[in-house]
Amino acid sequence: MSDAEDDIAERKMQFLFALRSKGVTDARVLTAMEKVDRGPFIRGLFSERAYEDMPLPIACGQTISQPSVVGLMTQALKIEPRNKILEVGTGSGYQAAILSQLARRVYTVDRHKRLVREASAIFNDLNLTNITPVVADGSFGLPDQAPFDRILVTAAAEDPPGPLLAQLKIGGIMVVPVGQSDTVQHLIRVTRTDQGFDYDELLPVRFVPLVEGLGKDA
Ligand code: SAH
Repeated sequence: MSDAEDDIAERKMQFLFALRSKGVTDARVLTAMEKVDRGPFIRGLFSERAYEDMPLPIACGQTISQPSVVGLMTQALKIEPRNKILEVGTGSGYQAAILSQLARRVYTVDRHKRLVREASAIFNDLNLTNITPVVADGSFGLPDQAPFDRILVTAAAEDPPGPLLAQLKIGGIMVVPVGQSDTVQHLIRVTRTDQGFDYDELLPVRFVPLVEGLGKDA
């Protein structure tokens, strides 16, 4: 191995170590995160920090989430192999790529056309054929493809959006950061039962806000 390859291998090992130490312990989630390289999802200046456990800026003023938070959210969803998942907030596409390793099909939506276009190109390069990226206002979900087994929202809402709750199957799980965008938010897990909805509060997080309507570029 060259020095550069050695260095990348070392950084990837540190990356997995950081995930475990922050509570990402599910073997299937760790395997997915070992397999999907975060590098291609980050462009330009910040690409050399791809294996650090921190959020980083991406296009359109958005951020790629911190890897340990990606891991904890994925773990909280308790994904089963036959699941059909909706992700709201494609961003870089990294979270969708992780979900694609664990589920049958992933629909991922973003209000910014540019982000959807760039993420689609990476999914093609990596041959991730079970992801369907869509430009849409995800606060309304994706009625044509509903209902979903799992829904992951990766932008903060003041309350779990009603249309998303309505598009969750009975027995389905939604994970969503809830709270004002400029304060601490809480990651909430909503489980739909045949009686209604159960709520668990998981951990404090910080996400960009869920914004209504399409981006100016869409
Ligand atoms: N999951 C992403 C990070 C998401 S950042 C990743 O792995 O990189 C949050 C994303 O939510 C941003 O890209 C933002 O454009 C998107 N977003 C915010 N409000 C939205 C809405 N109403 N509908 C769809 N996407 C939205």
